[in-house]
Amino acid sequence: MNIHEYQAKELLKSYGVRIQEGVVTDSPEGALKAAKKLSAETGTSWYVIKAQIHAGGRGKGKVKETGSNGVVLAKKLEDVPEKAKNILGGTLVTIQTGEEGKKVNKILVAEDVYYPGDSEPKEYYLSILLDRAKGCNVIMASTEGGMDIEEVAEKTPEKIIKEWVDPKVGLQGFQARKVAFKLGLEGNAFKEMVKFISALYNAYIGSDASQFEINPVLKTSDDKILAVDAKVNLDDNALYRHKDLAELRDLAEEDPLEVEAGKSDLNYVKLDGNVGCMVNGAGLAMATMDMIKLSGGEPANFLDVGGGANATTVEAGFRIILQDPNVKAILINVFGGIVRCDRIANGVVEAYKSIGDIPVPIIVRLQGTNAEEGAKIIDESGLKVSSAITLKEAAEKVRAAIS
Ligand code: GDP
Ligand code: MN
Repeated sequence: MNIHEYQAKELLKSYGVRIQEGVVTDSPEGALKAAKKLSAETGTSWYVIKAQIHAGGRGKGKVKETGSNGVVLAKKLEDVPEKAKNILGGTLVTIQTGEEGKKVNKILVAEDVYYPGDSEPKEYYLSILLDRAKGCNVIMASTEGGMDIEEVAEKTPEKIIKEWVDPKVGLQGFQARKVAFKLGLEGNAFKEMVKFISALYNAYIGSDASQFEINPVLKTSDDKILAVDAKVNLDDNALYRHKDLAELRDLAEEDPLEVEAGKSDLNYVKLDGNVGCMVNGAGLAMATMDMIKLSGGEPANFLDVGGGANATTVEAGFRIILQDPNVKAILINVFGGIVRCDRIANGVVEAYKSIGDIPVPIIVRLQGTNAEEGAKIIDESGLKVSSAITLKEAAEKVRAAIS
């Protein structure tokens, strides 16, 4: 689960990570109030207004309606409401949102931390994530902060520092010092960076995160180290342990169909093609999507109904797939191992009948225990469904259905 920058910063702060202070709001008047509050608390007279969407690249991104960037600096209090207005309610297009962009419902008004006249602010990159291959957490750091890190990794991989942390042992002091040293820091800035990294690691472990990315981490000329941006990804499977964090979920940032699928425990990802598919098991779902492509179609979605394919899950799957107007045919590809094919076939027929008329052809490929019986039930149902036993047969029927 992703959370917003302002939420991520609050989380970090609660673990003692120094952050760029800010106040979240959803109106130009609120932005003015926020700016005044920040001046009273931090003494700042410049402000940064930052669109809150679940995507990066906001600084260079543009709001479609007004042409404003997604992160802007206001050097006067009076300018804050106008600059906020140019972002709020607009559609922000960044390198990560795709052309359609994302609607901005909230902004974060933050203190300017690149002090006016600061001759040597320095931006660093810092992230923590899970290295599955090594079974360790890995801290990645770079002196090339503020830039597109993928580009740094590709062109100058030597500029990316990696420090692996055994989760059973935890982050050791020498490891945090090693990273700070490799970043070229000295004196107070070195000590501050060590503290920053340790607190960040505690926050990562404490919140059961799967990824933290702080880009940029800023060193001010008076040697403060702080998080200017924060991208936090939490592990969905651990959210039951963090009721407070689970509440940070912003459904407005998620695809409505994916939200609905989640309610029925279906694993659904919307895609752009014309063949809807419903499969049990993620591996089989991937293979099925390949097969759809080979038969000349494009998958409209990824949908894993999980182990217990029954009338209820199949019906929920149908309802979700059918909301996508691009769908010209639906392929159900289920392996009957523990669940027998005849039961799945009955489930499909039952689900079909409870929905009523389905306007697109459905191909049902059942393989495994009682596959023949399953096919018979499908073919004799009198509905617009046809059966297939081999993948080849299914592919040919999909091809016929969409051409
Ligand atoms: P992103 O573009 O979505 O990654 O958003 P960031 O939070 O990283 O902000 C983008 C850029 O805005 C940063 O790289 C900074 O250069 C700039 N920025 C952020 N905070 C401040 C600030 O307090 N003062 C100034 N002058 N620039 C800032
Ligand atoms: Mn950033």
